[in-house]
Amino acid sequence: MKKFLVIMSVLILSTSASFAEQTYSVKDLQKMNISANSPISKSDLEKAEKIMLNVHQKTQEGVNNGKGPFYAEIYDKDGNLVVSSSNSVVEDNCALYHAEVNTLKKAHEKFKSYNLAPEDLTIYVNAEPCIMCAGAIMWSGVKTIYFGVPSKDVERITGFDEGYKPNWIKEFKKRGITVYGGIEKVAGEKVLENYVNSGKEIYKPTR
Ligand SMILES: [Zn+2]
Repeated sequence: MKKFLVIMSVLILSTSASFAEQTYSVKDLQKMNISANSPISKSDLEKAEKIMLNVHQKTQEGVNNGKGPFYAEIYDKDGNLVVSSSNSVVEDNCALYHAEVNTLKKAHEKFKSYNLAPEDLTIYVNAEPCIMCAGAIMWSGVKTIYFGVPSKDVERITGFDEGYKPNWIKEFKKRGITVYGGIEKVAGEKVLENYVNSGKEIYKPTR
């Protein structure tokens, strides 16, 4: 009987272990070239990768329609797409109209609130938020950020200046904002390379 119980316990333990979800720590993610300030489950990362691939595709579609090479989507806590927008700096002649700012503005209008925190929203962006957009996201109340191409690669490929953001991913953790970056980076870099190769405008102020 004792032997039987031991065998049964081993069976139950191994079965439950196989159902337990794998979680990546911040260090695990670092090894996978993902910058993060919180752990993530394997299935959530896979979900994010799928959405990000679509975000990169939508970025390219925006470029094809005269938009800038950046695009963002905001999802609610149930995983429904709430609002999205491309960068429209050149089209609208306004330096503020980055993809994140345009998308956050739509979300504030939709929820009729300057504080989006109660909605538990997640923003996906094809590239790391610049100095302005990181600030805009912080003020908006959005709780989670997934971005594709890191700023240093955006700058290397395009020559855009993303601004000075020391330790922003760690700083956001202190403010309750979860960040995962470098998601489907290669696919995102291709879109930026296409933009540069097409000879489109790299807009920045010259002083
Ligand atoms: Zn920006």
